[in-house]
Amino acid sequence: MLTIKEISVSYGNRAVLRDVSFELGDGQIIVLLGANGAGKTTLIKALNGTLPISAGEINLNEQPLTSISRREIAKNIAVVAQENETRFPVTVLEFVLSGRFVHGGAFGWETDGDIRFAENALKDCDLAGYASRLMNELSGGERQRVVLARALATGAKILLLDEPTANLDLAHQAMMFRLVRERSRSCGASAVVITHDLNLAAEFADEILLLKDGRIAAKGAPSEVLTAENIDDVFGVKVLLDSNPASGNVRVTNVF
Ligand code: ADP
Repeated sequence: MLTIKEISVSYGNRAVLRDVSFELGDGQIIVLLGANGAGKTTLIKALNGTLPISAGEINLNEQPLTSISRREIAKNIAVVAQENETRFPVTVLEFVLSGRFVHGGAFGWETDGDIRFAENALKDCDLAGYASRLMNELSGGERQRVVLARALATGAKILLLDEPTANLDLAHQAMMFRLVRERSRSCGASAVVITHDLNLAAEFADEILLLKDGRIAAKGAPSEVLTAENIDDVFGVKVLLDSNPASGNVRVTNVF
């Protein structure tokens, strides 16, 4: 469980996150929404300790994040960052196996268990035939799925995903969210996910955090947060709301 108490983050003397508080419970999926520059990526970076906070507190399983080693954090929290430099000439299997480093494995020294984790993650991400393909010879969407597979292979209970569906086709967007949902149900894994797709957020989020200018503008269940007023306030667009006929969840339609 991650507990975030009144955190602020600054770049130099410019505060870009202010007074952000929320809790990521076991099995919970939180979707972060907000306009470009609202502070979403900054928040993800703060949550795994790669960016220092200037005020407040982040606790991982009731221990201050600052008191936990990088390796221990990585065992618990896996990040899929937005700008992945992943065009190396390494194979897909090698890349995904690198997610097992935190458990002691290394290239050439991985255990059968590590390989099983990696192969399962590849299968889950619809990459079963890709193990010996080279990372630098994949499409953007395929690479993105490999990066997700590496995060899954770590076995971390908390996933932080920064626009994980940006390059994915419709089927793989749904696959990504379904995977996260299944892991939450099967082993209590939780996730913080950034997306710009309000309807995917409505379908998959337990809770939505709406960020505006570095502050939480609204927080709660999708039906509470995705109101025409909030969306106009944060994105400056008019929308119509009704309910998705398949799921009954709130559905957002842009008015052009
Ligand atoms: P989002 O992910 O919501 O688009 P970011 O968290 O990337 O927003 O950025 C929040 C604000 O912080 C923006 O104004 C951005 O310009 C600024 N920012 C992001 N990264 C840096 C950085 N490394 N140095 C200085 N300012 C930054």
